[in-house]
Amino acid sequence: MPITNFLIPNQKKKLGIALVGLGYYSKDLLAPALQLTKNCELKGIVTGSPGKIPVWKSKYGLEDKNIYNYENMHKIANNDDIDVVYIVLPNALHMKYSVIAAEAGKHVWCEKPMAPTVKECQTIINACRKNKVQLTVGYRMQHEPVTQKIISWAASKPFGELKDLSAEAGFRNGGGDGTHWKLHKELGGGAMYDMGVYPLNAVRYATQMEPLAVTARTEISRPEIFTADETTFFNLEFPGGVHAKCKTSFAENLNELTVNCDKGWYSLSPFQSYTGVKGKTSNGQILQPFQGNQQAVQMDEDAKAIMNNKNPLVPGEEGLSDIRIVEAIFKSASSDGQRIEL
Ligand code: NAD
Repeated sequence: MPITNFLIPNQKKKLGIALVGLGYYSKDLLAPALQLTKNCELKGIVTGSPGKIPVWKSKYGLEDKNIYNYENMHKIANNDDIDVVYIVLPNALHMKYSVIAAEAGKHVWCEKPMAPTVKECQTIINACRKNKVQLTVGYRMQHEPVTQKIISWAASKPFGELKDLSAEAGFRNGGGDGTHWKLHKELGGGAMYDMGVYPLNAVRYATQMEPLAVTARTEISRPEIFTADETTFFNLEFPGGVHAKCKTSFAENLNELTVNCDKGWYSLSPFQSYTGVKGKTSNGQILQPFQGNQQAVQMDEDAKAIMNNKNPLVPGEEGLSDIRIVEAIFKSASSDGQRIEL
């Protein structure tokens, strides 16, 4: 659906970005990447931790008037320095703060997974539509050049018709004192939401199809640490008899996507790391890693979409599509692997 009537910032050369939530991803990846962007500038922060403010102020030259907390964040509405609010919070908080940002008239970039439920995803989409702001989900892989090459192969079919796929993403999580939100259900933790959306999104972008049915099961080998899923296996049935076998885990390192076709295969390993995504094919081609910064490319492209009033590469609907399937995966897993039609 074409996007119209956006609040186009008055001919700014760079959009002002405010990061909401200054945890690992904001601090270690997004803020440094913003220093490399052409179309964006880190102008503001929203944080509930006053102790973090001096460090961020001195490192990024932030002005006091652009620093907010969760209670006064809605006042961003009156701040022309901020064009985009980037939600980088625990997953169960994405909806609340995306809606506050949209109602403040700011474009919304929301981290993956978009939100724990379809209902919440739809609420974010509705709020952005109502306030005529753009909404983008932080699926960085869709902006990544090696990934884009294999996405294009879904249409050009250099190895013939797709037959089956496998995709796995995970890492060993659960150290520390076991209290982090990613280990627990309340704030949208668990392997499926955190890492499982990578293989799920990958088999959707690699096939350019939507699954018809899912079966799934979860395993928890460390119940003393996890109340959310530690490992989830899920199988997707796509049109034309194409199958995808997927796995995500907080118990082991996994990072591979393979596409088998009737005349060959191609594979990316790693397929979702921040750097070094690379591939090989059955006829000996090597897909060399992209040398740029993934997050900088993602944010520059998403900013360009706003500046040019064009549809973003990864709109809110894309985040919702994954969560619709995640809901079916959890339904299957909680009913002994029953086949759930979508
Ligand atoms: P994190 O735990 O390191 O950071 C979360 C931040 O939210 C912290 O600064 C914390 O203080 C703040 N917060 C605010 N209210 C909170 C509350 N009630 N409970 C707990 N924390 C609260 O997590 P992260 O790894 O930075 O993940 C944040 C988001 O970014 C998640 O949605 C995650 O999926 C996403 N993420 C995306 C990528 C990617 O590659 N696209 C990578 C990592 C994380």
